[in-house]
Amino acid sequence: MTNANHPTAPIIVVGAGMTGLAAAWELQQRGVPYVLLEAGDYFGGKVQSEPTDDGFLVEKAADAFILGKPWALELAHEVGLQEELIHPREDTKKLYFLRGGKLLDFPQNLKMFVPLDDETFLQSGVLSPEGLQRMLDEQHIPPKPPTDEDESLASFITRRFGEEAMNFIVPLAAGIYVANPYELSMKAAFPQFLALEQKYGSVIAGSRATPRAAGPVFGSFRGGMSTLANAVAARLTGDVRLNTPVLRVHSDGVTVAGGEKIAGSGVILTTPAWYAAPMLHQSFPEASALVGELKANGSVAVILAYRAEQFPQNMHLHGLQVAADEGIEMKAITVHSAKMHGRAPDGHVLVRVFFKDLEPAKARAEAEREVARLFGAQGEPLWYAYADWRGKNPAYQVGHLEHLARIRAALPDNVRVAGASYTGVGIPDCVNAGRTAAREVVTTLNLDA
Ligand SMILES: Cc1cc2nc3c(=O)[nH]c(=O)nc-3n(C[C@H](O)[C@H](O)[C@H](O)COP(=O)(O)OP(=O)(O)OC[C@H]3O[C@@H](n4cnc5c(N)ncnc54)[C@H](O)[C@@H]3O)c2cc1C
Repeated sequence: MTNANHPTAPIIVVGAGMTGLAAAWELQQRGVPYVLLEAGDYFGGKVQSEPTDDGFLVEKAADAFILGKPWALELAHEVGLQEELIHPREDTKKLYFLRGGKLLDFPQNLKMFVPLDDETFLQSGVLSPEGLQRMLDEQHIPPKPPTDEDESLASFITRRFGEEAMNFIVPLAAGIYVANPYELSMKAAFPQFLALEQKYGSVIAGSRATPRAAGPVFGSFRGGMSTLANAVAARLTGDVRLNTPVLRVHSDGVTVAGGEKIAGSGVILTTPAWYAAPMLHQSFPEASALVGELKANGSVAVILAYRAEQFPQNMHLHGLQVAADEGIEMKAITVHSAKMHGRAPDGHVLVRVFFKDLEPAKARAEAEREVARLFGAQGEPLWYAYADWRGKNPAYQVGHLEHLARIRAALPDNVRVAGASYTGVGIPDCVNAGRTAAREVVTTLNLDA
């Protein structure tokens, strides 16, 4: 497929994580020549599904994607992965909330953190009786007058659901962003809740008025999340180069390590902000400074493999979330062997234990202690692995969208930044960001057939 209108120079996509792969895929669909440049020796960036010799499948970052945002699923269909799609298991769908040292059953009938019926929530015990009632009273708190002003997640929670609700909502909401709730931008991270407040006068009322789509909420792939990255990469017919770090971005191309200049009519820069800022520095100092101001938070996941008989009971559960006021370093556990089929051989248990910024060895000791304390694990795990994302989780601070507008204004129309640092960290958001950036550059350059 070629487009007679395209200029000689291709569009250059920097980074082959899910954002860059989606951008290249979109350009290919439009018949626009592209060069995809990736510093590493594999596709998928943060998405890393690693099979082990003894039959486990370790996910280093994303282990599933939300289906309510359609973009990842659409891409999966386009690259022929219908048969590979799997969903979290229903038969093991048990979740706990750790508070006051006790494993409490996770409240049923929630939409993210929003209780869909009062009775079930009041009986849950995840907050004090007063805290639970105050959360439900959100239905009677008048909405804030319409405003363009941003606010933090903490401000939103306390304003709508009360102070104590922070202990329950923060692990569920801020966990996704590994964020400081006092800094996380509501407008960038959770605009849907601001919209519900404005439209229905209450988040609870609005959530109850908008029914959930039937069917599973999350999807993944038999071979892990890397399946999507590898399937897209395998179908790219353009100029795709691994092991090619870009050093500098210009309006007419890029310079790669070793000094080669690759001419481009446009550039889509999909690396995280902390890598993008130095690349922009020479040609776009103002944009570079603004991109460099975007902050990152850290997280560490410790992955532990056990034999099932090391536990006194079966480990048929998806995991647990830890209350914000629990006073321990651990934030959550996912029991991957029970959550998804094909993540551990029969008779084995695979867990991922999450922490914020913590030295990996300390996190490992803590993870083993907690798995023993909470689930009675006996003896050492068979092996452990780390997913060390310290300083690698984009932090969307209050004012993030306004900051993005300033970055946009400081770059020429044929140079775009896109990806998890900017418009959403989830895989569907990244796919959408890559494809949108590609469409926008194509339009700017008047390449539409
Ligand atoms: C622990 C963890 C759990 C997560 N869980 C989920 C989940 O369950 N569901 C979900 O939807 N999302 C999840 N995410 C988020 C999601 O995985 C990421 O936001 C997403 O993969 C980011 O994609 P990206 O393409 O924007 O960036 P990246 O994946 O970071 O890709 C950027 C690419 O740019 C390359 N690069 C860097 N510098 C250069 C250079 N100089 N030249 C060329 N290339 C360069 C990098 O090597 C990399 O391949 C999770 C993230 C983490 C850390």
